[in-house]
Amino acid sequence: MENILLRDKVSDLESYFAAGGYRPLKKALALKPADIVEEVKKSGMRGRGGAGFPTGLKWSFIPKDAPGPRYLVCNADEGEPGTFKDRELIIQNPHALIEGMAIAGYAIGAAHGYIYIRGEFTAETELLEKAIAAARSKGFIGKNILGSGFNFELFLHRGAGAYICGEETALLESLEGFKGQPRLKPPFPAVKGLFGSPTVINNVETLAAVPAIIEHGGEWYAAIGTPKSTGTKLFCVSGPVNKPGVYELPLGLTFKDLLEKSCGGMKKGKRLKAVIPGGSSTPVLTAEEAWAVKLDYESLAMAGSMLGSGAVIVIDESQCMVKLLQVLARFYHHESCGQCTPCREGCGWIEKILNRLEEGIGSDKDIDTLYSVAEGMMGRTICPLSDAMAMPVMSFVKKFRSEFEAHAAGKCCPAEVK
Ligand code: SF4
Repeated sequence: MENILLRDKVSDLESYFAAGGYRPLKKALALKPADIVEEVKKSGMRGRGGAGFPTGLKWSFIPKDAPGPRYLVCNADEGEPGTFKDRELIIQNPHALIEGMAIAGYAIGAAHGYIYIRGEFTAETELLEKAIAAARSKGFIGKNILGSGFNFELFLHRGAGAYICGEETALLESLEGFKGQPRLKPPFPAVKGLFGSPTVINNVETLAAVPAIIEHGGEWYAAIGTPKSTGTKLFCVSGPVNKPGVYELPLGLTFKDLLEKSCGGMKKGKRLKAVIPGGSSTPVLTAEEAWAVKLDYESLAMAGSMLGSGAVIVIDESQCMVKLLQVLARFYHHESCGQCTPCREGCGWIEKILNRLEEGIGSDKDIDTLYSVAEGMMGRTICPLSDAMAMPVMSFVKKFRSEFEAHAAGKCCPAEVK
């Protein structure tokens, strides 16, 4: 099937328009906002940022009679290790995002939209700035869009490099000019979000799919993928494969197909050991589990992991699981905002224990402590960063305990001697 999101030669306004771009916006503006929300609900599209919440349902949570402004925010703060698909989408198809935001803004009654983009994405920021200016010059955003009477202004805001600002309420704090720390929920952003007003926050990939849904209809989109995991998904594959990169594929394909058909298989001489299927915070799968799994929300949940952001990290037999987990722990410890004790202290303890094991001065008791610290971090904090550290720890220890034990025994790493 043809790609919906990653398309060749549509990065500038003229070519995007020539390929049918901004036709869905015109169509949307002739509909009632509630009909657009209904169409997106029909599509079954779930948010592509990681949590997988149904998009149309999220839009419908905006209170209909709330006085004052509403806001639409695009989360382009892509920072989950292993994830690089929104960045690619912005480069290849920036107008799909802009058009998707204009349609979503109309559907929820927002006159202002913000794109919160990761600070390190310098080239992507410049590219989006140009694309927004081009769209504004043709009347696709701004005042009285296409003569419809609908006004929608779009602002680009650069983050400053904190991973936690990818969490939606920390993002809102940062956008308001405060320190990027997650808020206690409820109230949820749909009720009290940006500047205290009802706000919808969607990921880049989610919003960029909206024009195609409006153009072809929700049922068309729902027919792609599986009944509960509809549409296409961007999978970003990294690790020792022949063709790492970003692939747009229907949800529900097998990992085997992704690896062998899209990525050209493992690099010569490398054997699959494990796969992190949805970004660094999702539980790891053994090779055996990965070969059998389908890549959709339900199948991955049944396999004990998550689709997450769609960042597939491939690990081969020569890579040390203790070392890999140590790298992740260093990252999450550094990025914890420090508000919650289990996360602030737990991430630090985990890093210290892994440092000991990696240096060959740990003990068997350390392995149990590692697991129990992670268990104590689950579901007890303001935001999911604590779980994001705990889940890989528990799955790494459960599934690759022998490597941790070899480190504790002070022996050579069993992976590195292979
Ligand atoms: Fe901050 Fe961690 Fe608590 Fe999230 S879980 S609010 S990152 S301390």
